[in-house]
Amino acid sequence: MKLYLASGNAHKAQEMDALARAGGLDLQIVSAREVGGMPLVAEDTGTFAGNAAKKARALKAKLPPDAWVLSDDSGICVDELGGAPGVESAYYAGPAGDGAANLRKLVDVLRGVPAERRGAHFMCVLVLLGPGDAEHVFVGRCDGRLLDEPRGGGGFGYDPLFVPAGETASYAELGEDVKNRTSHRARAWANFAAWWSARA
Ligand code: IMP
Repeated sequence: MKLYLASGNAHKAQEMDALARAGGLDLQIVSAREVGGMPLVAEDTGTFAGNAAKKARALKAKLPPDAWVLSDDSGICVDELGGAPGVESAYYAGPAGDGAANLRKLVDVLRGVPAERRGAHFMCVLVLLGPGDAEHVFVGRCDGRLLDEPRGGGGFGYDPLFVPAGETASYAELGEDVKNRTSHRARAWANFAAWWSARA
C-alpha cells in the first residue's frame, strides 16, 4: 500500500522511510515530490495537530479519493521559553525556514541559561487521511535538554543542540539508529504503526 507523505522536508521523509522499513509494515512511503511537490500551506493554526491536518488535506486534494496521506508537524518546545519556538520551530529566525539560522538563534537566546534550566522536548503530530472523511491523529514526544553549543554533524534542524533523556550526546552525534528508536517522530510513528497493524 502506498502512503503519501505530506511534507516537503527530505530529512523527515528519510526518517519516515526508515521507520516504515524497520517496522516491517506493508507500506511504501511516497514523497510529495513524486506527485508534483507539496502544496504551499500556511502553518497558521497555532497547533501541531491543526497544522498537520492542513498539510495532509492539501496533499490529499491533489490525489485520488482512496489515497492514504500522512502528514507530520513537529517542533521543539523549550521550558525556559515557555514552550517556544514550538509550532514556530521551522520559522524561528524568520520566514525563510533556514534551519542553520534557527539553530543559531536558539543558541544565542539561551546563552547563559544554566544547565538545570535547559529542559526541552520535541513534539511530533502525525495526521492520517484515508478513503473516508476520518482524520486519525498520532502523537509522539521526546524529552531532553539543550547543550550550550551545537555538537555533531548528523540529523537536521535542532538535533545538534538536543540531548535526549538518558543520553550524554546530541541527536546529531548519536546517529539515525538511536534517533529512529527514541525520537518524537519514532514514538508518533509507533502509535500510527500499531493502529495500522490493528486495522489490517
Ligand atoms: P514543520 O515542517 O513545520 O513540522 O517544522 C518542523 C521544524 O521543527 C523543523 O524545521 C525543525 O526546525 C524542527 N524539528 C522537527 N523535528 C525535528 C527533529 O527531529 N530534529 C531537529 N529538528 C526538528
